[in-house]
Formats: sequence, structure tokens, C-alpha cells
Amino acid sequence: MTSIFTQAVHAGERGPAPREVPVTTPLYHSVGYLEPSAAVMEDVFSGETAGYVYRRYTSPTVEAFERAIAALEGGDAAFATASGMAAVHAALLAAGVRAGSQVIAARDCYGATYDLLATLLAEQGVTVHFVDATDPCRVEDAAFLHRPAAVLVETISNPLLKLADIAALARTTRAIGAALIVDSTFASPYLCRPLALDADYVVHSASKYIGGHGDVLAGVVVTSHSNREKLFAIEKKIGAVLAPEVAWLALRGLKTLPLRMREQCANATRVARFLSEHSAVAQVYYPGLPSHPQHMLAEQLFGDRGFGGMVAFELRNGTRAAAFAFLDALKLVLPATTLGDVYSLALYPVMASHRAVPPAERAELGITDGLLRLSIGIEDADDIIADLDAALHVANME
Ligand SMILES: *Cc1c(COP(=O)(O)O)cnc(C)c1O
Repeated sequence: MTSIFTQAVHAGERGPAPREVPVTTPLYHSVGYLEPSAAVMEDVFSGETAGYVYRRYTSPTVEAFERAIAALEGGDAAFATASGMAAVHAALLAAGVRAGSQVIAARDCYGATYDLLATLLAEQGVTVHFVDATDPCRVEDAAFLHRPAAVLVETISNPLLKLADIAALARTTRAIGAALIVDSTFASPYLCRPLALDADYVVHSASKYIGGHGDVLAGVVVTSHSNREKLFAIEKKIGAVLAPEVAWLALRGLKTLPLRMREQCANATRVARFLSEHSAVAQVYYPGLPSHPQHMLAEQLFGDRGFGGMVAFELRNGTRAAAFAFLDALKLVLPATTLGDVYSLALYPVMASHRAVPPAERAELGITDGLLRLSIGIEDADDIIADLDAALHVANME
């Protein structure tokens, strides 16, 4: 199989030249397309011939991004969406989640995903069961009990970087005929290809590692041809589709995904080791450390490619004041609410991603007042470590 380094550069590009003349000039901003004849247009409308009709259906630049990400994930097809959340929503609907359906989801899934399931979809008559998805037996028990339409997990969870045993979960979903949806945003196709482990839908927030430069808000679902048909039929009505300008940026970003990820994994490993030896740090969460409870699973899932660019840790002085002092003292690492970019970022889950989670539930999840999450960039590891070291000293004096 072609290496992901080669795929990332070439996949999706130089697709079939469109037969249609765009009504306005490319980058393919055009909303409408002209066919050579009404007969061809009829065939495109009927689905007999592939082609472009209207931008909400598809357009050449968006298709190029879809081809590229499908190749990198080893999937048949992809469907690009306006954001990662639109991708999560589309995958749930394509999996058949409707009023009366049951869904099983990872208890510590991404905040907005939790919210989508627990509020919007719950209000629409979907029953959601949140379980500890790190334990495939718990998911299996819940699945046989509730017979869900879909099971939704994340390859690497936020912010504690727990892993999902995708192959084991897929055996369960296959047995009961449920769809397995894997949000693989934190892993990216560089580390793991969930479809090869028998997942049905892989979802990404392309706003993170795929875009990689902090200037893209996009999502994508990778799946089979028949599931893509379902996604298309749904999004034709909902319209949460990706804009060509953004697809163009995402496709540009994607080319360096393997290079960035290789560097980010190496830097994150160094940062995790540095933190685990630091006197101001009580605990480090990183799948690459032998102390991570799922280190073996990480090696199975990611092979020798690395363990991701995300690192979480707890300050020994586990107070909100110490966490604030740490964030304020950072000079290189940016305290911004995103991840997966070329620059290093720090996030305080209690203030940002897990703000809406009640304190008691937060404590149960292990998200303490002293917990910080880092997204390690491609800067020189020595510079990142020096910045963290200086900020840790300030936090420790708080
Ligand atoms: C950011 C993120 C999302 C949502 O993506 P947006 O592009 O912000 O809509 C979903 N899942 C995970 C794991 C994320 O990190």
C-alpha cells in the first residue's frame, strides 16, 4: 500500500476534469454548473452520470478533499462537512439514529458531542447511554441490553487521552447490527485507520490535525460508498456542507499531515517525559508513557508511528490559581481553545472544554482543578520544554 507520506501529497489531486464549465471562475466557488446539454443534465440529476449540479450537492474542490481523506483513511468514500460537529451529527443520522433509537456513547466524549446527544438528540426522542468506552466489556453489556442503532467512541479521548479498543468494539457492534462511529480527530489517519479495524464511520474535526494551521473549520466522515449515499441524502436536506475555499485550505494542510504528526509525536514524547520528571507535576497522561494504563493498546493501535501530539498533566499544586498562573506565564505555548495546530497550545479543561460538566461529574471523570491539556506543535522541543519549565516554576510558587 502507498505510504501515507506519499498519499498525503498526491491523493485527491488531478481528479477527472469537470465536463461542466463553471458559471464563475475557479477555485470552483461556483454555485451552479452548466452541462453540455439538457440530456446530460437530466442524467446528472437522475444520478446516472456523475457531475455537478449545485454546490450544496458537491463541487470539484470539495470532492478533491474528500478523495484525499478517503485515501488516507483507507475508506471507499468521504463526505466533507462545515465543521467537525456537523460530521458527528451527519454520521449519527446516517447510522439510522432517529426518534426511538438508542445510542451508546463514550462517557468522556468531546463536549459538544456530549451536548448534541444529551440535549438536542435527546429532545428529539433519542435515548443516549454514556458508558466507560475504555472497557469493551461495559460497552458490550450496554449494547446487548439497549440494542443501540449506533455506538460512538473516540480513538483518543479528551482531555485524559484514554483509548478505545476499536477492534473489540467493532466485534460487539457487528454482533448486534449497530453502526460503530469513531471520532478519530485526536489520532488523525497518521496514527490509526479505524475502518481497517471494522468501524463503520470515521469522523474528523478537520479543524484540528488535518487542517493543522489553525485557519480551517471543517469536518469529514469517511465510510463505505453506500453509507456515503446516506450522508449525501441527509446533507442535501440539512446543508451543513463544506465550502470550497475551506476545502482548498484543508487539502493544502493535509499534505503535511504526516510530517507534522511525526514531529508532533516526537515532541510530545519528549514533553511527556520532561513533565513526568518535574517536581511541580503530580501526574502525566500520555499514551506513549509505559505508565499509561493502555500503553499496550496504544502500541497495537498506532504501531511504531508514535503516540499523538496531545499531553495532559496535573499540577502538584492542583488549584485553579496555580493553573491560571501557569497559563499566564506561558510565552511560547499559546493558551487558546483548539488543538492540532503547528504551534503548541495549552487548554484548561475546567475553564474551557469541560466548563458545562457539573463539578461532581468532573471529579468522577478525573478532570480536576489542576489538570491542563497540551497540544504539542512542531516548534523545537527544547524551546517548548523551556517555556513549560518556566511556567511550571511560576505555578508552583502560587
Ligand atoms: C473539535 C472537535 C470536534 C468538533 O469539531 P469542530 O470542527 O469544532 O466542529 C469533535 N470531536 C473532537 C474530538 C474534537 O476535538
